Amino acid sequence: MKNFDMMLREHDLKATKQRIGILSIMQDKGHINIEDLYGKIKTLFPSISLATLYKNMHLMLKNNLLTEVSVKNSKTLYEITKDSHAHMHCENCGEVYDVDFNFENLIYPKDDSFELKDTQVIFSGICKNCK
Ligand SMILES: [Zn+2]
Ligand SMILES: [Zn+2]
Repeated sequence: MKNFDMMLREHDLKATKQRIGILSIMQDKGHINIEDLYGKIKTLFPSISLATLYKNMHLMLKNNLLTEVSVKNSKTLYEITKDSHAHMHCENCGEVYDVDFNFENLIYPKDDSFELKDTQVIFSGICKNCK
């Protein structure tokens, strides 16, 4: 596992203490919404404002270090960008799980008629803890 310092620099971002803090929380939680992230980052940096957090998140999203995950009936979640994968979303507890998903076998026009930028596949259901 690469360290956060290196990850930030590989994405053309300065490795500030706050960004490293954000990434370590995200690594720990997997998928997190901005309110929960703000609650946690404040324990590390009590003076950080929500605006500063948003600004950092926006930069890391823009530089593709973070990915946005939109789930039905739930706040937008964020995760550290990983290889292509799908998500399972529990309709009961709202938990989001990563699942391997082979996007190579999907049928879509693989010519220059459409430039693919992002793929989001979300399976909705009830997780094993809630069943
Ligand atoms: Zn559940
Ligand atoms: Zn994920």
